[in-house]
Amino acid sequence: MTASLDSALSLPVSAAQSVKQQYASQIAIERTRLLYEGSRLPTLFMLICGLVSAWALWPFLASPLLLLGWLGALLVLGLLRLLQVRAFERASAERQADPYWIRMFVLGAAASGVTLSFAAIMLAPAESFLAQVPLYGLIAVSVACATIAYAISLPALLSFILPCLLPTSVFLLLSDSELLHGWGQLSLLLLLALLVMAWQVNRLVQRSLMQRFYNQALLERQEEAQRHSEALNHKLAREVEQRRQAERQLRAAHSQLERRVAERTQELDEATYALGKSQARLAMALEASELGLWDWNLRTDEVHHSKLQELFGLAPTGTLNMRRDLRPLLHPDDRRLLLHALSAHMRGRTDGYAVEYRVRHADGYWVWVEDRGRVMERDERGRVVRMLGTRRNITARKRREEEQRLAATVFETASEGIVVLDRHYQVLAVNRAFCVMTGYRREEAVGRNVTQLVSSPDTHRQYRQIHAQLLAHGRWQGEMMETRKNGELYPQWLQINAVRDRNGRITQMVGFFADLSARRQAEERLRYLSNYDALTGLANRMLFKERLHEAGQRSRQTGRSLALLHIDLDRFKLLNDSLGHEVADQVLRNMGRRLSEQLAEADTLARLAADEFVVLFDQYSNLSSLSRLASQLLAKLRAPMTVDGHELVISASIGISLLPENAREVSALITQANMAMQHAKHLGGDNFQFFTDNLQACTLERLQLENQLRKAIDSGQLEVFYQPKLDLSLDSLQAAEALVRWRHPQRGLVSPADFIPLAEETGLIGAIGEFVLRRAASQACEWRQQGLGDIRVSVNVSVHQLRQGNLTTLVRRVLEETGLPAHLLELELTESQLLDNVESVLHTLNQLRELGVKLAIDDFGTGYSSLSYLKRLPVDYLKIDRTFVRDLTEDGEDAAITRAIIAMAHSLELKVVAEGVEEQQQLDFLKSQGCDEIQGFLISRPIEAIHFASLLREQEMMVAP
Ligand code: C2E
Ligand code: CA
Ligand code: CA
Repeated sequence: MTASLDSALSLPVSAAQSVKQQYASQIAIERTRLLYEGSRLPTLFMLICGLVSAWALWPFLASPLLLLGWLGALLVLGLLRLLQVRAFERASAERQADPYWIRMFVLGAAASGVTLSFAAIMLAPAESFLAQVPLYGLIAVSVACATIAYAISLPALLSFILPCLLPTSVFLLLSDSELLHGWGQLSLLLLLALLVMAWQVNRLVQRSLMQRFYNQALLERQEEAQRHSEALNHKLAREVEQRRQAERQLRAAHSQLERRVAERTQELDEATYALGKSQARLAMALEASELGLWDWNLRTDEVHHSKLQELFGLAPTGTLNMRRDLRPLLHPDDRRLLLHALSAHMRGRTDGYAVEYRVRHADGYWVWVEDRGRVMERDERGRVVRMLGTRRNITARKRREEEQRLAATVFETASEGIVVLDRHYQVLAVNRAFCVMTGYRREEAVGRNVTQLVSSPDTHRQYRQIHAQLLAHGRWQGEMMETRKNGELYPQWLQINAVRDRNGRITQMVGFFADLSARRQAEERLRYLSNYDALTGLANRMLFKERLHEAGQRSRQTGRSLALLHIDLDRFKLLNDSLGHEVADQVLRNMGRRLSEQLAEADTLARLAADEFVVLFDQYSNLSSLSRLASQLLAKLRAPMTVDGHELVISASIGISLLPENAREVSALITQANMAMQHAKHLGGDNFQFFTDNLQACTLERLQLENQLRKAIDSGQLEVFYQPKLDLSLDSLQAAEALVRWRHPQRGLVSPADFIPLAEETGLIGAIGEFVLRRAASQACEWRQQGLGDIRVSVNVSVHQLRQGNLTTLVRRVLEETGLPAHLLELELTESQLLDNVESVLHTLNQLRELGVKLAIDDFGTGYSSLSYLKRLPVDYLKIDRTFVRDLTEDGEDAAITRAIIAMAHSLELKVVAEGVEEQQQLDFLKSQGCDEIQGFLISRPIEAIHFASLLREQEMMVAP
């Protein structure tokens, strides 16, 4: 800025030359202007001189024409010049710069010079000095005057002075006249003087012009420099102002910054303090909540995990690897659930995930954990890099839920009606059975006072007594008559228990009641069924035995004789097979009717089995009357009948036995009558036979089979097959049922169904049972030794064995001999066996239990087991009979029963085994219901021991990797 200012001011004074160059054109223009401006006066002067000269010369001239011509030319020139000056002055500055003007001026000057020279040469009279003086004097004055004006421009001056003076001087010097000669010398002198003067004037003008332009340039420069410096000053001032402002802003910003720093420092201090506190609180909360915190780096797959010991039983060592350390602990069934939740969250479809699943604790059991987590960091491509979350052990909660669910199931499916009351007898909850029995819908009952639901005054009275009893003893039970919603009266067995709080105050009451009318009917029906044959309405085997027993006693007391007729229809099996059960049943009904018509006087007529009938005569006159009766009976039976469009003739065989003639004991009487009947059959049927001693031989065939079986045991024809049981929770084979097979030399593999009944009748079952027990126990030991694991074998126990009373001794001995741990042996007993003689059976079972042996109820559901009865038995397993499993559909009746059996068994802490599982759906359903084990063709048929061992090995191979 200062530099440019300097350069503007320091123009060198000696730079006239450069100024001349710089302003040459402007100086030329200025000169032209001065020329024109200054030419008006000399022109006028020249015109005046011309006129004066003309006037002075006029008397001396011979010819005035020349003078007039000259004067005219002079006037024209003078006028032209004046016009020219006017034109120039009017022209614009731009046009004035044109060189045309100077050229015109020079031309005019030259013309004027020539004109004056003409006058000096042509008009001056050579003799008259007096005439010459004014002319030459006037010419000299005009020339001098013009010289002063034209000295500005040397070309203009020369163009005028030279044509004017030079020819004149030459002419005068060359003339003969001395006078003229003198004038010639004067004009030369004048020329020289004028040239000198003009030169001087020109220089002065030149300098003054230059000075002027220089000054002008200087002024301009100064002005420029001033403007520039003003601009600079202005700029400077602006900048200074800007700086000041910037400084002010800076200062403000600084102080603000300082304030912010102070504020932030304080905030940070506070935050740090709060963070410290919240961290401490978080640590405490985590500690208290038993939450394990995890932090998973997905790039390295590393997991930092707290509470490892508490959650997984793992040593709390630094970092784990998700894939290697944690994932294998996950329960296989929960894997999909977790993956699903995790991937949904990772894809950003959820804000976080929370899953409950099981993990295997280091001690081998499953732990339920609740896992919550969320993505904390993603990379630039959106992939998850880090996740954070918590895990919590919720096993206790899960167990509680399970128990609650079970309790709810038991509550809901219980066959007893259950009602929960508050202490004002307001109904809080009822179950389904309650609704069924009382006829009240749930929403009708809940919220009402129970006294509004009962109507008879009798029950109201009783309620007062019940209340007193509850207050005193906390429970009441008894039978009472109650009314259903529809007014129907029914007997009810009610049990009420008071629930007390910690202070001993009654808070709730739970009432259980059973509709006894159903049971009464059932008992009635049972009594009928247990005594009468449903098909024919005749007495059944049970009632018959009872009657026979009574008759036997009577006979002994009175000495009267007894006759037993055993009637069996001929080829009935054939009829059954060919015409079907419907027809066969119809035939049996008809035969029963015919028999009862014919034997009105008989003491007892009973149907023992399919087509076997017996008649008991308490008193008979003689053998011949008996024979007659038998013949009549045969004739009556063989009479044709039409059943379902079939014309049938059915004969029968009759065996007769007498007491005391043939037998002493009534039990023998039956066998003998049977033998006699068999004999009659052997004789072709349609006849009757009295028992004789040699009839005994008829049982030969049976004896043969019996013998063969006896031999079979000794000669090792019996084998034991094993049918695996699948543990549903572990999904592995943990147990097997031992099932006996008879490899008959001629008949091949005989099913137990074909020989067990015979063995039971003949008592051979004892030996068979012992064999199977021993074989199965040592087999289980062998598998253990082969490293195939602890397989629990179950062995079927027959009634006979249970009754013999030495079962416990046998089992203890076998366990000792084989060295099998008692808990690996299971005994299967059927419900009916257990019902047989409850007290003694209970005793045996308790003894076995003490040994450590497991007990199972086989074919459960087919007998008459009740909850209370089951509670008393020391059993571990319950095998649901395959008839229920066979028709398992999700919402069928069997499914409901199965579901209830499982829930009930679990509530009694029994494990449940389902047998006869043949299809995957059955398995799925049973699994969903929490059934513990299953057995059936779906898993495997009963197989030989070595094949079972292969199965175990295969399973091991599957698990091993
Ligand atoms: P159980 O105790 O109910 O034995 C189960 C029967 O069901 C076996 O018949 C078995 O082969 C069959 N089973 C298994 N899975 C299925 C299936 O998925 N579908 C069907 N339809 N059946 C299946 P097995 O071996 O013929 O035995 C018949 C009965 O003989 C046994 O019934 C048991 O009461 C008796 N038994 C067999 N071995 C012995 C024994 O050593 N001692 C005694 N006392 N009785 C035995
Ligand atoms: Ca069994
Ligand atoms: Ca069974």
